[in-house]
Amino acid sequence: MAKQQKGCSFCGRPESQVGFLIMGIDNVRICNECALQAAEIVKENTLSKSKSLQLKREDIPKPIELKKYLDEYVIGQDEAKKYLSVAVYNHYKRLLQEDEHDDVEIEKSNIIMVGPTGTGKTLLARTIAKKLHVPFTIVDATVLTEAGYVGEDIESILTRLLQVADYDVQAAERGIVFIDEIDKIARKGDNPSITRDVSGEGVQQGLLKLLEGSIINVPPQGGRKHPEQKMIAVNTQNILFICGGAFDGIEKKIAARLNTRVVGYTANIETEQIDRKNLMQYIAPQDLKAFGLIPEIIGRLPVLTYLEPLDRDALLRIMTEPKNSILKQYVKLFKMDGIELTFQQDVLEYIVDKAIEFKIGARGLRSITETIIMDKMYEMPSKKIKSVVIDLDYARSKIEKANFNRLKIA
Ligand code: ADP
Repeated sequence: MAKQQKGCSFCGRPESQVGFLIMGIDNVRICNECALQAAEIVKENTLSKSKSLQLKREDIPKPIELKKYLDEYVIGQDEAKKYLSVAVYNHYKRLLQEDEHDDVEIEKSNIIMVGPTGTGKTLLARTIAKKLHVPFTIVDATVLTEAGYVGEDIESILTRLLQVADYDVQAAERGIVFIDEIDKIARKGDNPSITRDVSGEGVQQGLLKLLEGSIINVPPQGGRKHPEQKMIAVNTQNILFICGGAFDGIEKKIAARLNTRVVGYTANIETEQIDRKNLMQYIAPQDLKAFGLIPEIIGRLPVLTYLEPLDRDALLRIMTEPKNSILKQYVKLFKMDGIELTFQQDVLEYIVDKAIEFKIGARGLRSITETIIMDKMYEMPSKKIKSVVIDLDYARSKIEKANFNRLKIA
């Protein structure tokens, strides 16, 4: 009698016709191909579950809760934090309204944050993303150009969102996109240009389609669109867009507007009431227009908020207070080698003063600190030392020796 071959319990093929078999209890076996197929089924099932995953009202973080969370990581910027928290909360509520059918339709409130570079715009966006249950991505507007020119197509923004959503289109369609450096696509000057403007107005027009809410064909792997590539249709109706930009020099536009108002016969703000040191707080949509954003884009970014320049006190707090402050990060690095690292208070002040002197703001705090403790990071792990104290003399000597210019452009 021929020996009966034991094969796959799923497809029934004998052992000789499959790559290999995986044994289970009670002599159950699965061949390599059936195992792969099973894995696919599991994946599809999980995805469709995530698609149908309904947001529950009680799971949605409330604005105060969101702001408190932001407070743990971002110093100051209360106004922007509040606006962001409310906008994100309302975004969730819009997503919930899909299940409620009545005549009132809550419209999308895309956000624009204006403020000097290095004051926390990206940090705010990144931090809030950690608290969210929707796909989130950050894109840089400077790489975008009109279709057909060197650079990335507008659609690449959605490619990133699809990627973070694991190509779950429905999840991506409820996501949040942070577009950084939106000011870089402003047209140069208030007048519509007559010459070709491939990275300015043309891009704004392209972006408008996304912000307005339409169905966009997205190349799944990004890059340039080409005819053979299979596109994925993404509806941007429910995607929340948060834009950020430094808008260098916009204070002049604000000042000009405020001045005309004050001298004009509709004057209702007393000149002395205006805080001339921080004009950003008076920012209005017409200033964005004067800067070179087209009115249609401004109309699609109804929530306008600003970030304050960071003063010495804020920079000092940034060094120590946030949950993952620069100091806490270095202390942790040393602790992993069993070394206790301490900075004397006057060293912190010195670092902040240098950041101000080199005009590199919050972004420079890390590079200055790194320069100061580089040698310690190099030597300490090989020594049998249990603690390191950085004092002012040591910090000074390291900075004075360092290449000044390298710090300046950090
Ligand atoms: P922007 O997007 O406004 O140009 P970033 O958010 O990228 O600036 O800030 C650069 C870095 O500076 C951040 O990663 C963070 O380390 C620090 N930083 C800036 N602003 C703040 C702030 N308000 N609170 C805490 N850290 C900040």
